[in-house]
Amino acid sequence: MSAPCVLVLAGLDPSGGAGLLADAEAIRALGATPLCVATALTVQTRRAVRRYEAVDARLIADSVRALLEEEDVRAIKIGMVGNAANARAIRALLPAGIPVVVDPVLASSSGAPLFDGPPRLLLELASGALLTPNILEARTFCGGTADATRLLREGPDAVLMKGGHLDGTPIDVLATRAGTESFEAPRIAARARGTGCRLASAVAAGLARGLPLRDAVIAARALVRDYLQAHLSV
Ligand code: PLP
Repeated sequence: MSAPCVLVLAGLDPSGGAGLLADAEAIRALGATPLCVATALTVQTRRAVRRYEAVDARLIADSVRALLEEEDVRAIKIGMVGNAANARAIRALLPAGIPVVVDPVLASSSGAPLFDGPPRLLLELASGALLTPNILEARTFCGGTADATRLLREGPDAVLMKGGHLDGTPIDVLATRAGTESFEAPRIAARARGTGCRLASAVAAGLARGLPLRDAVIAARALVRDYLQAHLSV
């Protein structure tokens, strides 16, 4: 039996630290098959993003439709979409009945903007999906405070708010209609890019394989922790 497919819509980072290449790595590592549609091409080294251009929304739409027609897509991961036109076009393409994970990419950790449009469009894209904001993104959506349960009321089915940007022990919060759960583990002080991309893709891979959301989150956190551990400078 072939591995279940995860359709990924995200930016191409040619250095491989983040974006589609990182997504594909995480998805394969968790036993699923990545199908990768580029939404934006970035000019990027392992150090920083220099600039990007969004891919035409019609090209993205044709690619997504073709893959959905011919492949057995079991989950969809959306990362960087680049601009408002792409966010709107992708929203219109999402089929019912397939779990969707949205990593709302607004900027790189080096500070380069990666979305040109109202941030709210990324929240709307996650309607009925799992939204995986970091603290900075959650603050943008909530207008100041980072509150996973408040974000849940805006339309996502679930919110996994990542605590890596906070001082001290990082705590990820998973909020669903059933309640809220915190996941905590000692900080791994590694400088590694693309952790957000990898986490969201790994959750999507778990969902594609039929894992319940909580188990998919636990497996994805383990994958990211292994990745960080491997990037600890010695
Ligand atoms: N490039 C692409 C295509 C991305 O999707 C992202 C983040 O999601 C980045 C760059 C930035 O990655 P980092 O935050 O690790 O710098």
